[in-house]
Amino acid sequence: MKGDLTGGCLCVAVRYSLREGFRFRPYACHCTDCQTRTGAAFNEHMLFARQDLEIEGELDSGSYEQPSGAVSTIWGCAKCKVRIFAENDKRPGFASLRCGTLDRSAEIVPVVSPAVV
Ligand SMILES: [Zn+2]
Ligand SMILES: [Zn+2]
Repeated sequence: MKGDLTGGCLCVAVRYSLREGFRFRPYACHCTDCQTRTGAAFNEHMLFARQDLEIEGELDSGSYEQPSGAVSTIWGCAKCKVRIFAENDKRPGFASLRCGTLDRSAEIVPVVSPAVV
């Protein structure tokens, strides 16, 4: 997705803007970790440079040590618990956006289709 993007949580306590900068194309990950994290069939996320994200509102977080030893921390709305982005201590400076929180989420075209297993 190109251009500056905006998004937020369901209760609107958290809003963000993501400047156009370094970012990967959105990716629909169907691994079992992502299924457990989201409670859904897949997780649509997009890696971006953390410095490009400006976020307003109160966040809370949860962390998980992956089998590789990397610690993943997810940040979301403290009120409605919608998860917005995740960071990984082995990838400093980058974060992974939960693309369903974008205002223009209907325009997302993930690089991996659900048919790929
Ligand atoms: Zn909220
Ligand atoms: Zn995954």
